[in-house]
Amino acid sequence: MGEKNYNAFAMAQEQFDKIAEKLDLETSVRELLREPLREYHVSIPVEMDDGSVKVFKGFRVQHNDARGPSKGGIRFHPLETINTVKALSMWMTWKCSVVDIPLGGSKGGVICDPHNLSPREQERICRGWVRQLAKDIGPLVDVPAPDVMTTNQHMLWMLDEYETIHGAKYPGFITGKPVGMGGSLGRTEATGYGVVFTLREALKGLGLRPEDTSASIQGFGNVAQYAIRLYNQLGGTVKLVSCWDQQDQTAYAYKKEDGIDLDELLSISDRFGGIDRVKAEGKGYEVLSGDSWLSEDVDILIPAALENQIRADNVDKISARVKLIAEAANGPTTPAADTVISERGIFIIPDFLANAGGVTCSYFEQVQCNMNYFWEKDEVLGKLDLKMTSAFRAVYELAVKKKLYMRDAAYVIAIDRVAEACRARGWV
Ligand code: GLU
Repeated sequence: MGEKNYNAFAMAQEQFDKIAEKLDLETSVRELLREPLREYHVSIPVEMDDGSVKVFKGFRVQHNDARGPSKGGIRFHPLETINTVKALSMWMTWKCSVVDIPLGGSKGGVICDPHNLSPREQERICRGWVRQLAKDIGPLVDVPAPDVMTTNQHMLWMLDEYETIHGAKYPGFITGKPVGMGGSLGRTEATGYGVVFTLREALKGLGLRPEDTSASIQGFGNVAQYAIRLYNQLGGTVKLVSCWDQQDQTAYAYKKEDGIDLDELLSISDRFGGIDRVKAEGKGYEVLSGDSWLSEDVDILIPAALENQIRADNVDKISARVKLIAEAANGPTTPAADTVISERGIFIIPDFLANAGGVTCSYFEQVQCNMNYFWEKDEVLGKLDLKMTSAFRAVYELAVKKKLYMRDAAYVIAIDRVAEACRARGWV
């Protein structure tokens, strides 16, 4: 997940410190917001299918809950680290704030690789994670959700364990549940669609028509797939997608000059978004090295995989044609690379704004669970579009008015709201 010496939390703090300075925040607020409020490290003993017991390490970090219960996903990844979870929890705080939903920020993770675990073993990890944390999370405290390599099935196992422990039904304990089991229609699409709602608005601002643009995408998981779907519907052409190849333990890029066919690629991919290379070649895709997504000659780059992907050592590979980067992943760009992108005048939709559609829909899911009344899909997606569009416009207007880089403008709005909530509560 990272190059040597990469520390996502140090990066999140660096981004925060820069804006704290700009906003001239008082020392107490800075001290409070540059660290998480609470951090849990747990050991999860799991009985494996062969009868042995393996102990998995898990985390939950609650960065801030001044604006409401903290909220954020759980990742399953073999290279998960506490620093990354801390960074992601902080980015969740800014994410919920920038779209102005009444939630704070948190994140969780388990060091494991679902590729090598049976469904029963995954279920036991889910239940074990909840058992360790059941007193410290909850519908009015901290609400988990899916993220990298976790699914609605994982969420349902977690919910079931939480409800078993607490002896009642708490559908608001977790979001990203299956539809019909307290989940919201549209939640699966929400993050990817949200990226494209902001992309559509950004293109308007740049005076570009989607149908005249092309894109290159890193990743082929849930977020990338739905981003491609909606971008295609707007008329855009995705020339290239890259994704991880589990068998070869490397990434490959799949290219078609006149546009990749989403359904075709879906038909030859696994549930983790890994594309079958041999079949792709058979269908006429040019197979390139994984990092070629960054140097592709397109108008739009969409990193939709993991953090730490656009760095000082590769940012110069970005083609002169690129006008816009929509950060679907969390933390894909390091501060050093960000400086180069800003100097080159490439328009950026920063991660915690671009990918806020997932948590926004999670918030809608909680609202529906509280009412025990579920909306039609069009209603969910319509509300999502409104929320994402107005958040984008507020950031964009501030960026234009104050001549700020888009990431800085988004941070100014998000941090200011959270700082104000901390002051209003009398914390600082
Ligand atoms: N994991 C997603 C994110 O990074 C969604 C979080 C949520 O729905 O709470 O935004």
